[in-house]
Amino acid sequence: MSQKVLIVGGVAGGATAAARLRRLDENATIIMFEKGDYISYANCGLPYYIGDVIKDKEKLTLQTPQTFHQRFQVDVRIGSEVTAIDRVAKSVTVKVKDGTTYDESYDKLVLSPGAEPFVPNVEGASNPNVFTLRSVPDTFRIKNFCQVAKPKSAVVVGAGYIGIEMAENLHALGIQVSIVEMADHAVGPFDFDMACELHGHIQSKGVELILNKALRDIKIINGQTVVVLEDSTHIPADLVIMSIGVRPETSLAKTAGLALNARGSIIVDEYMRTSDPNIYAVGDAIEVKDFNTGKPAFLPLAGPANKQGRIAADNICGRDSRYQGTQGSAILKCFDMTAAITGMNERQAIAEGINYEKSFTFSGSHASYFPGSTFMSIKLLYNKDDGKVLGAQITGYDGVDKRCDVIATAIRASMTVNQMADLELCYAPPFSAAKDPVNMAAYVAQNLLTKDSALFHWHDIEKLDLDKVTLLDTRTAEEFKNGTISGAVLFPVDEIRTRLDEIDKSKPVYVFCRIGLRGYVTCRILTQHGFTAYNLSGGYRLWETIFAQRPVPKSNTFAQAIKEEHLQDLSEKSLAMESKTIQLDACGLQCPGPILKVYAAVNAMSEGDIVEVTATDPAFAVDIQAWCKRTGNVLLDSKQNAGIFTVTVQKGTPQDATNCASGHCDKKNIIVFSGDLDKAIASFIIANGAAAMGRKVQMFFTFWGINMLRKSTHVKVKKNLIEKMFGFMMPRGSKKLSLSKMNMAGMGAAMIRGIMKHKNIDSLESLITLALDNGVELVACTMTMDIMGIKKEELLDRVQFGGVASMLANAEESDMSLFI
Ligand code: FAD
Repeated sequence: MSQKVLIVGGVAGGATAAARLRRLDENATIIMFEKGDYISYANCGLPYYIGDVIKDKEKLTLQTPQTFHQRFQVDVRIGSEVTAIDRVAKSVTVKVKDGTTYDESYDKLVLSPGAEPFVPNVEGASNPNVFTLRSVPDTFRIKNFCQVAKPKSAVVVGAGYIGIEMAENLHALGIQVSIVEMADHAVGPFDFDMACELHGHIQSKGVELILNKALRDIKIINGQTVVVLEDSTHIPADLVIMSIGVRPETSLAKTAGLALNARGSIIVDEYMRTSDPNIYAVGDAIEVKDFNTGKPAFLPLAGPANKQGRIAADNICGRDSRYQGTQGSAILKCFDMTAAITGMNERQAIAEGINYEKSFTFSGSHASYFPGSTFMSIKLLYNKDDGKVLGAQITGYDGVDKRCDVIATAIRASMTVNQMADLELCYAPPFSAAKDPVNMAAYVAQNLLTKDSALFHWHDIEKLDLDKVTLLDTRTAEEFKNGTISGAVLFPVDEIRTRLDEIDKSKPVYVFCRIGLRGYVTCRILTQHGFTAYNLSGGYRLWETIFAQRPVPKSNTFAQAIKEEHLQDLSEKSLAMESKTIQLDACGLQCPGPILKVYAAVNAMSEGDIVEVTATDPAFAVDIQAWCKRTGNVLLDSKQNAGIFTVTVQKGTPQDATNCASGHCDKKNIIVFSGDLDKAIASFIIANGAAAMGRKVQMFFTFWGINMLRKSTHVKVKKNLIEKMFGFMMPRGSKKLSLSKMNMAGMGAAMIRGIMKHKNIDSLESLITLALDNGVELVACTMTMDIMGIKKEELLDRVQFGGVASMLANAEESDMSLFI
């Protein structure tokens, strides 16, 4: 006798189960219920239809009820919601769109109802211009709103996969987009460090990314929708997209008494059977086994839903087919970048108590000499005990998907880093390098496991006590001048062997270069000469990406004003000259390659000539700005497309940037001792001015000066009684400072602030932010913190920490030191 199978849900898991059932059993009666009007549609493509990337709406539906019936002889019933299951009678109740209901019996039932977008219970969440995106009708609603209401601004709440895809597609329509995210980084499954690679890129597109802030409510103020965040930030928005996650749509399963977990996901066994052996469940509605940990998890992804649909059908047809678990392989197009992940992230490795290590590598997508090579950043996690590959996160442009898939396969096969290093992957210059990025990541891990190298990480730097360790920058003097880590000493890799006697052997040596390769070579030399040496994994590039967050130039800043003045000056001069333009291809070169190439080219040019450079090193766009400022050349244009940066530089009047014997003493050193408002303003104006002139500035905050770096809100930290009293008596943050003269119980300070506002001068708070954005290093004196009982958490984000040695090291490289 032929069996009768009912399927609830007609998209990823449901449609796959139906098609597979038919392929295995030509005689079965298969009925698929879908409460919406569409089946088997491309959920994953929906954002791209809104952004006009997919232009034809027909393309969103892979099958219609008619084509599906024709091909698979499945009775597809759209507009039919299954509202109840009678497990004893083995029948379901179906509610049709016109309100009528009927019962349908089954031998086997497959549930694939998916997951619904989570909508927080806040004021304004159901306003007509607030949308979620799950289905084809949702897509049409958003698209229609964009076409009719022509929104100029949008807020996307939630920076997960769907949030970022929506931000990109709304931005493509010319809408000003802000993304709000409660966590400290975008794309939750990624680790903070790897997500930082994406943050700068999102912001570089002109999309505002607000992290660490949760949505409070959505208000209408004077007819304008305003998204209000928990810290009272108000963001006007004509359109709001809620993309803060999904939850399993399992009320039907719950009412039927099927076993659910605490989250509401349906519990299934490896055959996809629920607690009722006649009912199977698949897709976003179920609890899966996390392949990486073996523990139950909620991992709503299309690939697994499809696989589970197939497995359920296999078992219904008597085939032994088992689901091995979901490993969380996922990929995202984030504007021009690609971000892919597989396996465990670092948070999971920590939670599992695994003795893991991580390494960061930075490799070209293909041979650097072949045109169009772009870079990718790989974070590899592996078990230090047995070498097993645990997980990977990759960001970059071309070829990220391929590398992540290779590592995903390695994880499925329980490979070790040694086995991954042995993988023989396809190579020809247009596609890869003879040492593929996957092999490179494995080599670095191998070196660590064999103790050929020892690593330290970006988050270890702030803990280094520079009195007890040596921090060496092994890059070139040019790179060093463009920015380094506070307290580092310049020791180019090629000088190490001849300058070994300058390094104190009694102290451990912490080494860094741009991406880790020169640092590794330096460490090898040092360890073979009896030093204890550690190499910064991911190098200065990663550190800078995380800490500097690649400041996006803001208008109305000193830097901008000076640049514009300079530009005007030069353009006038160059008008009188006959300038020629040369093209320079620096693609595939890593820092300092592109800068050195530009340097050589500009040296050979005449004043007013222009060089148009293409490069793929992401640091180049920032480095060239600093380089131009320092050398008196003018950056005319800078753009980026699909990982290729094109910058145009006009040769200016050469400037003498080096004015001390060592050739790198053009920094500014400002010691801020005073806690007076007027002195604080003066010190930040000087610092911003110097930064705008391309100088590296370090401000060292000690004694009363440190108070202006305190966060204005109370931060819960552990303190003893004296520390508490100190904290209470001292001003909390820049807004609480008084004037050194004529303070008049705070009236003077208020007057000064009022006058500055009236005259359009930035407030002290804006000057501080500006300084941080302009790369000024704000260093809090750790000794003062200790005396006054101030904890790191109480100070502004991006503040660095150091002692007198780091200040003195900076002073030695400075041509100006101020004590304010
Ligand atoms: P769904 O595909 O959601 O199908 C469930 C269906 O069941 C729905 O159509 C629903 O109407 C119907 N239904 C529910 N209850 C009933 C009922 N009682 N009676 C009748 N019908 C019912 N995943 C990726 O891996 N990569 C991506 O790039 C990606 N992009 C995405 C983009 C968007 C905008 C969205 C919304 C999802 C994306 N996903 C992506 C997730 C992926 O689409 C889901 O993991 C997958 O569709 C889950 O399949 P499913 O069958 O469990 O649920």
